[in-house]
Amino acid sequence: MKQIHLRKPSFILLSSLLLVIAFSAISLISYYVANRSLNQHIKTNTLPLTSDTVYSEVQRDLLQPVLVSSLMAQDTFVHDWIANGEQHPEQMQRYLKSIQTRYNAFTAFFVSERTTNYYHTSGIIKQISITDPADNWYYSSSKTPTQFDINIDQDTADRSSTTLFVNHKVKDEQGTFLGIIGVGLASTKIKELIEVYQTRYGRQVYFIDRQGKVTLQGSQFNGAEDIHKVDGLQDIAPVILAQPGGSYSYSNSDQQYLIKTRFVPELNWYLIVEHTEKSESQITATLWINLGISLVVILIVLLLQHFTLGGYQRRLEYMANTDPLTGTASRHAFESMLQQILNFADRHKHPVSTILVDIDNFKIFNDTRGHLMGDKILTLVAKILTGNLRKSDSICRWGGDEFYIVLTNCSEENARRLAEKMRQQIETSLKNIDDMSLNVTASFGIAQYNSPESKTDLFNRTDRALYLAKSNARNRVETSLSQPSVTTSPANK
Ligand code: GH3
Ligand code: MG
Repeated sequence: MKQIHLRKPSFILLSSLLLVIAFSAISLISYYVANRSLNQHIKTNTLPLTSDTVYSEVQRDLLQPVLVSSLMAQDTFVHDWIANGEQHPEQMQRYLKSIQTRYNAFTAFFVSERTTNYYHTSGIIKQISITDPADNWYYSSSKTPTQFDINIDQDTADRSSTTLFVNHKVKDEQGTFLGIIGVGLASTKIKELIEVYQTRYGRQVYFIDRQGKVTLQGSQFNGAEDIHKVDGLQDIAPVILAQPGGSYSYSNSDQQYLIKTRFVPELNWYLIVEHTEKSESQITATLWINLGISLVVILIVLLLQHFTLGGYQRRLEYMANTDPLTGTASRHAFESMLQQILNFADRHKHPVSTILVDIDNFKIFNDTRGHLMGDKILTLVAKILTGNLRKSDSICRWGGDEFYIVLTNCSEENARRLAEKMRQQIETSLKNIDDMSLNVTASFGIAQYNSPESKTDLFNRTDRALYLAKSNARNRVETSLSQPSVTTSPANK
């Protein structure tokens, strides 16, 4: 016999969807808030701090060569040697060598204004000339108003290496310009410094000149050679180069960046510390933990819902679709089922028959033996009827003491035979109930579905057959078109 279910509203799906949305929203919001405050913190605190530290370390590293160059420019040996007409160049060479060794400098040099000789630790390496672009540094340094300047250049003695030169003016007591003396510092030292900061803070540290050209960078530098060539950064380049320092942010197609700039007067460069706004691993881990916890909670809630709400819902559905006394289908559920069966029969040309059963003189049992006995009779009759049906058949309590049965793939003749069997079972097995002689019987009306008649027409024909059985002294089976001769009753058996 078929179980009848109404379409279950998807409460569980809806509520789990709401939970997923709510949990995801909470997790994502807290993730973005944490990220934002972290980036804000980096922008206002850690980035300027890194910049200041790098700046002071650069200054410290530059201070010593500046002092040494200043000492050299004042050295009496240098002044005497120049005054003596720069005789014995090997003396100057020895002097420069001793400076180089003592201060661990990369190189030491002196360029004479009078002779234009370039003295180096290895001797006179050239004579500078205003026409040689490689010597421009000398002519521009000699014109600066300050005592010294710092210049990053290719080493004149070793063209392959970049050196940071401190160029100090040498002047005699009358203030006559005698030349430029100083030391060179391998720029790798500053590069190392940059790299230490890059690895320690995960930030990019580099220098640009006043035109925006990148002058010094770590080995892992991945930017362009000029800030005017970086997407996003090029828009704020004029502002950066016009200010002595500031905090900026820019974005390009890949990412969001925070930068802190600071002008380093000793180098005439800007120090740039750049942070790529990315999610910190701890925050990302928290996001995943939150989402994981949410998932577990959702699963628990889903299971609870399934077992409590789902069970409740199934019970409600059962109650709505089932007659509580007899356990047969309710009339409402049966009617939609009947329509489906008839549609199916139409398509597949299967015979369908219906039986309407009504207990004979049921009112009398109620009146004489009480309602409880009436209920018991109803239950027992329903049990006999149900016990004779196949899984594909359906039965409902149509009302009062009436049951309506639909038999799929069943001709009127077979339905009649089945009804007769049911009738006999009721008659024989319900003679006595609880030691009381009751002689319960029932009457049966039968009809075969006549496509394309409506289910109401089918019912009416079945009902007419039942009426016929009732009229013919009850406890009988009648078919809708049957003649008295084909009917059966205990009288004519
Ligand atoms: P007939 O042979 O012509 O069918 O006579 P009848 O007395 O059975 O008449 P009818 O079918 O009209 O009577 C139905 C009775 O069933 C009337 C009503 O009091 C009783 N009834 C309806 N529902 C219930 C129920 O749930 N429990 C009980 N005990 N009685 C019910
Ligand atoms: Mg009756």
